[in-house]
Amino acid sequence: MNYFSSDFKMGILGGGQLGKMLLNVTRKFDIYTQVLDPSETAPCRTGCNAFFTGDLLDFDSVYAFGKDVDVLTIEIEKVNIEALEKLEHEGVKVFPPTGALHIIQNKAKQKLFYRDKQIPTAPFVRFAYTSEIHDSLANGGLSLPFVWKSAQFGYDGQGVKIIRALQDLDGLPNVECIAEELVPFKNELAVIVARSVSGQVTTYPVVEMEFHPEANQVEYVICPARIASHVAQKAREIALQVSEKIGHVGLLAVEMFQTVEDEILVNEVAPRPHNSGHYSIEASYTDQFEQHIRAILDLPLGSTDSKVAGIMVNLVGAEGHTGDVVYQNMEEVLRLEGVTPHIYGKKQTRPFRKMGHVTIVNNDMVKAREIAQKVKETIKVISN
Ligand code: ADP
Repeated sequence: MNYFSSDFKMGILGGGQLGKMLLNVTRKFDIYTQVLDPSETAPCRTGCNAFFTGDLLDFDSVYAFGKDVDVLTIEIEKVNIEALEKLEHEGVKVFPPTGALHIIQNKAKQKLFYRDKQIPTAPFVRFAYTSEIHDSLANGGLSLPFVWKSAQFGYDGQGVKIIRALQDLDGLPNVECIAEELVPFKNELAVIVARSVSGQVTTYPVVEMEFHPEANQVEYVICPARIASHVAQKAREIALQVSEKIGHVGLLAVEMFQTVEDEILVNEVAPRPHNSGHYSIEASYTDQFEQHIRAILDLPLGSTDSKVAGIMVNLVGAEGHTGDVVYQNMEEVLRLEGVTPHIYGKKQTRPFRKMGHVTIVNNDMVKAREIAQKVKETIKVISN
């Protein structure tokens, strides 16, 4: 199939920043790409060949959009799977395949899948409704503390709550959920696996999420992770196992915990480009977005090796600021060595909204980490 400067059409469900960074690749390759998103002002609106507004959970919108393309992919999991199944039956190539998406869209199903396939993960109990947890605590089926997770459609930490006392359950939605053992982890790690249609597989190096010591927010994604090589090896092997068993095509980002005993436990996966791989745009031979496009078009996969150490800092809306966005001190940051800001194109900021990220590359990881800290302390996402 000729994808380049041809009649071939790719579709992306979701028009956020991940879609925008996929569009950088489809533009580079001159692959015709159309995007569906509910918001007329989505970051993807300018980079694609055709932009459609519509509800990603609505059967008719997704079906009509998908019927018009040759290959359909996603940049968000919250999409109507029934429409994707019908499209798949009718010959549209859908990646990730709906079988993989079914498992991933529901955290309870995901966890049952890990248990079934003997993939190491934290112990858990599934509940049809949050209200059932009280009984389970009363009869000893469950004990405090634990982590409550909504089975469906949590995102960026919403839909996750650490329960240390009974009152912490107050106000949670009464939905299908899991109660998971609280893991005393040393590190949060991630590995991105790429799998092409014909089965070529590559893994990116293990990255490490460094947390703010008090705020418990990821501050830096660091590649390569500063961990022992045997731990990194184990993390890559486990990510490969998950990838093989889940049967995805395209990228699979595998988030993991490194426990105090250096065990690796799979937390969750995402079948698409991922925040933990943004560093790759500047630091890798082939960035994650290009790799995803190569994989779903069954093109040869590129090298996942890094050219330099890479650190990514998320730019999130500052607390107390809602309204038209201003990126304060951008010039100071641009003066630093090896720094590339990415601005997603969301006109309105609000506290903790992901508005952009900055990548820092350097031959020396220690230097990169110092510069990353300067970036973090200097740039502010505020409203005017
Ligand atoms: P989301 O889908 O919203 O990203 P996650 O399942 O990744 O939710 O959880 C968000 C964060 O909560 C994780 O990055 C981790 O810091 C913390 N967390 C999740 N599960 C556990 C657990 N079992 N033990 C300890 N911390 C956890």
